[in-house]
Amino acid sequence: MKKNNQNIYYMKKEVYQQIVEYCKKEAPLEACGLISGIDKKGLSFWPVPNEENSPFQFKISEKSMKETLSKVERKGEQLTGVFHSHPNTRAYPSYYDIKNHSYPNLAYIIVSLLKKEPTVCCFSINENKQVTNLKLELI
Ligand SMILES: [Zn+2]
Repeated sequence: MKKNNQNIYYMKKEVYQQIVEYCKKEAPLEACGLISGIDKKGLSFWPVPNEENSPFQFKISEKSMKETLSKVERKGEQLTGVFHSHPNTRAYPSYYDIKNHSYPNLAYIIVSLLKKEPTVCCFSINENKQVTNLKLELI
C-alpha cells in the first residue's frame, strides 16, 4: 500500500534537541529560527534573533532571513521550516502567528514551554490561512 507522506515533517533528532534547548535558553522571550534540509526534511538548525524581542510574538527580520538563506544555500540545502517558542501558551499558532505567516511552503513548528516538559507541534499554514497539523517524525 502506498503511504501518504504529505502530512509528515521529518526532522533530525539533533535539530529537534537544538531547537528545544535554544527555546529554553531564550525564555521568557519567544525564540525563533529557521530549519533547512533537502527533500523537505529538517536537517539543519539556524537560530535567528527575535526582532520583536517579546514574550508574546516573534518576527524574523528581512536581514536575518537573507543572511540565513545564503548560509543555507552554501550548504546545498533549502529552507524547510520555521520555528518559534510559546513560553506561556500551548503549542498552537496564535491569531498573530497565522496572520503574519508568509511562508506557506515551510513547516511551522511551535515549542510550548507551558509545562515542565516542552511540547513541540508542527503545522502547515497555507495561503488561505488554513492551519493543518503535520506529524513530526524524528529521524
Ligand atoms: Zn506564536
